[in-house]
Amino acid sequence: MMAVRLVARIYGSATRALCFGGWRSLHTVYQMAELPETHQMLRQTCRNFAENELMPVAAQLDKEHKFPAEKVKKMGELGLLAMDVPEKYGGAGLDYLAYSIAMEEISRGCASTGVIMSVNNSLYLGPILKHGTEEQKQQWVTPFTSGQKIGCFALSEPGNGSDAGAASTTAQLRGDQWVLNGTKAWITNCWDASAVVVFATTDKSLKHKGISTFLVPLPTPGLSLGKKEDKLGIRASSTANLIFEDCQIPKENLLGQPGMGFRIAMQTLDSGRIGIASQALGIGQAALDCAVDYAEKRIAFGSPISKLQAIQFKLADMAVALESARLLTWRAAMLKDAGKPYTKEAAMAKLAASESATFISHQAIQILGGMGYVTDMPAERHYRDARITEIYEGTSEIQRLVIANQVLKEYQG
Ligand SMILES: Cc1cc2nc3c(=O)[nH]c(=O)nc-3n(C[C@H](O)[C@H](O)[C@H](O)COP(=O)(O)OP(=O)(O)OC[C@H]3O[C@@H](n4cnc5c(N)ncnc54)[C@H](O)[C@@H]3O)c2cc1C
Repeated sequence: MMAVRLVARIYGSATRALCFGGWRSLHTVYQMAELPETHQMLRQTCRNFAENELMPVAAQLDKEHKFPAEKVKKMGELGLLAMDVPEKYGGAGLDYLAYSIAMEEISRGCASTGVIMSVNNSLYLGPILKHGTEEQKQQWVTPFTSGQKIGCFALSEPGNGSDAGAASTTAQLRGDQWVLNGTKAWITNCWDASAVVVFATTDKSLKHKGISTFLVPLPTPGLSLGKKEDKLGIRASSTANLIFEDCQIPKENLLGQPGMGFRIAMQTLDSGRIGIASQALGIGQAALDCAVDYAEKRIAFGSPISKLQAIQFKLADMAVALESARLLTWRAAMLKDAGKPYTKEAAMAKLAASESATFISHQAIQILGGMGYVTDMPAERHYRDARITEIYEGTSEIQRLVIANQVLKEYQG
């Protein structure tokens, strides 16, 4: 059955506006005031979904480490799992700004569901859409747009995370099969996924230039899953090792050319960072919402604590951190949509949004006092969920390296 794509319906008029050269004026609108009506409607649709479907169950999913299969299917029907995939491949055909807005709203409802959505959109579908052949897109994109199947992305290894170019997983061509050996670590979604984009070295002597990218079905002989990691946050998403032992896949499952893998991974992470920045915005917004609500209701010394200047200053700092990170994130998304370079801006957005989410959720716990420290309220979950956004898809230290590298290049002309 064709999925009901509410988002695409809402967005139809905006797509047409863009086709007739509306970009410049839309950009001006974003910068000067607020989102165009179409994006606001998308935001409201996702907000309603998050408030009705995700917020009521987020604490339980977290507690039970339970993958939200039914919610993921519903999100697929709304087009949220393949947001910038063209409609001809079954996607919603939207832009990255729309993806950022939707990611924030979904993550505000449930950060675990946010990362599941983010990995499928940016890390799994993104590189196949950019580098896949027509046959690969038919096989590996279309079935992963509706929520029936999801994908994952395997770059990190037990021995190398930030230093992704040092991949030790190998792929050797034997006849018309690639044979993969090695272990990939920390792979989000892998217990629930039907395919994985894998990075493995095909020529160790070339170091990062010898890495290639492969499309591997799950399950497949020679590939086993490690135990599910017992995580601090985003506990409803699965994270585990992928262990390859003489795992054979057809020759045509190579994505792009041999040796292109490191470039594919870095390009994919540039886009992915906009998704993680948006996830962090959602967590930060949820923490701020929770803090304001509590501050208005909690009476101390005869009046609500929201009347205390000490609390107001905290709320002001939280709101400024959130709003500035949001502007950076939307800017990075708009640059991507306009086909302009956005490596620096995506790293800035992820750095600002993730550190803001940690700061805001930390302050929210302080505003809630003892109630911030127990699971009766969502503040402690927001704090736990926020922390990962400073680690995956490049730690904050790596974002600073990326930004500084770009800044120095700009000064060198
Ligand atoms: C819950 C979770 C989900 C994940 N999902 C995925 C996934 O789906 N797919 C995937 O491929 N990976 C995934 N990862 C892996 C994640 O991207 C890595 O953990 C991350 O890149 C950091 O790598 P590392 O853990 O090996 O830390 P390391 O690289 O060992 O870093 C340790 C510390 O050293 C610092 N450091 C390292 N190098 C430098 C440097 N050059 N300059 C300054 N400081 C430096 C780091 O910033 C960090 O503080 C996930 C991780 C987690 C925890």
